Amino acid sequence: MSSQPNPERLVYLDHSATTPVRPEVLAAMLPYFANKFGNASSVHRWGYEARQAINDAREKVASLIEASPNEILFTSGGTESDNLAIRGVAHSRKAKGKHLITSQIEHHAVLHTFEALQKEGFEVTFVPCDKYGLIDPDDIKRAIRKDTILISIMHGQNEVGTIEPIKDIGAIAREHGVLFHTDAVQSAGKVPIDVRDMNIDLLTVSSHKIYGPKGVGALYVRKGVRLVPQVTGGAQERRMRAGTENVPGIVGFGEACRLAKADLPEESQRLANLRDKLIQGILDKIPDVVLNGHPTLRLPHNVNVSVKYLEGESILLNLDRMGVAASSGSACTSGSLEPSHVLLAMGLSHETAHGSLRFTLGRSNTEEDIDYVLEVLPPIVEKLRSMSPLGPGSGL
Ligand SMILES: *Cc1c(COP(=O)(O)O)cnc(C)c1O
Repeated sequence: MSSQPNPERLVYLDHSATTPVRPEVLAAMLPYFANKFGNASSVHRWGYEARQAINDAREKVASLIEASPNEILFTSGGTESDNLAIRGVAHSRKAKGKHLITSQIEHHAVLHTFEALQKEGFEVTFVPCDKYGLIDPDDIKRAIRKDTILISIMHGQNEVGTIEPIKDIGAIAREHGVLFHTDAVQSAGKVPIDVRDMNIDLLTVSSHKIYGPKGVGALYVRKGVRLVPQVTGGAQERRMRAGTENVPGIVGFGEACRLAKADLPEESQRLANLRDKLIQGILDKIPDVVLNGHPTLRLPHNVNVSVKYLEGESILLNLDRMGVAASSGSACTSGSLEPSHVLLAMGLSHETAHGSLRFTLGRSNTEEDIDYVLEVLPPIVEKLRSMSPLGPGSGL
C-alpha cells in the first residue's frame, strides 16, 4: 500500500489481523532465545529450565479460559489448532460416524479444513446465520444426525464481531453426545471464557491476536477427548503434537495470556466505549452507511460498516495515506475480488459487501484516534462518491 510521508497521526485499527508484542511479553521471551536455550526434552539443567518455563506458560494459558494446564496443547497458531481439533476428532471418531457440523461464517482455517474433509468422504452441514451474523442454536439441533461426531462454531466472529451463543450450542452438543469445538481466537482476552461453564470440548486460541508473538497458539482439549495427531514425530505435547517446543514463543504467549486476563474487565469496557463512539460517529457523519454485525452481541473491539456506492478497497488506500490502518472484510479476503463469504451469508448484496470496512481497536488506541478517523473519513467518502459512477441515482 502507498503511504504519504507525513500524515498528522498514525492510527492502527487492524488489531484483528494482528497485534504488537507487549513490552512485558518481549522482556519475558528474550532470555529464552539466548541464555536459556535448552530443549525441554533434555535431561539436564538447560532442559529442566525450558520445561519449567513451558509448564508456567501452560498454567497461564489454562487460566485465561478456566481450563486445567494438562488440557492445553501448544501449537504453531490458531490455524494449526483449528486443523488439529477438526481433523483430529474426525479421524479419531470416524468409525462412529462421518457427519460434521459447522457454519457458513467460520474463519478459513475452519472452513477450508471442513472442505478438505468432505473430499475424504466426510459429510458436512454448513449452518447459515441471520442478518446480524448470529447462528441459531435450533439450526444446530436440527442438523444433528445419528452419525454426527463434531460441531465447530466460532465464538467471536472475526469480520463482523458478532458473539455466538456458544454455551447453548455446547449444551446441545453434549446432550447429543457430539464433541464441540470453538474458535475463540478473536474473543479470548476480550470477553470472559470458562470452558466448563460453556460446555466446550475443544477451543482454539492464538498468541499474536492478544499481544503475544506470531507462530504460537494453543488448543484446549477437554480431559478424556481423543485426537489423532496431525504432526507426527517425537513425544512432545502428550504425543498429540510432535516437534521441539517453541520455548520463547510459548513463554511470550503465556505472559500475554496472563496480562490479558488481568486487564480484561477494564480494557474491554474501554474498547467498547471507543467502539461505540466510532460506530455512532460514522453513522452520524456519513450518509448511506450501515453497521454490519450485531448491535449489542458484539466483540468490544470490532466496528464493521458498509459504505454504499463505494469499494472498501479504495477507501482503505485513502485512509492509509492519512495514516489510518483498517481492513475490508478479513485480511485474507482483502485483495481478492470475491466479496466476504461472511457478509454474503448475512444476506448483504455484492455491492454492499464490497463497500465494507473493518476497524478493530486495541490497547494503543485513544479517544483522539477515534476523533481523527471521524475527521478524515467523511471527506474521503465524499470525494470518492463524487467520482463514482455508482450512486443513489444509478440504480445500484
Ligand atoms: C487470526 C485467526 C485465526 C488464525 O490464527 P493464526 O494464529 O494467525 O494462524 C483463526 N481464527 C480466527 C477467528 C482468527 O481471527
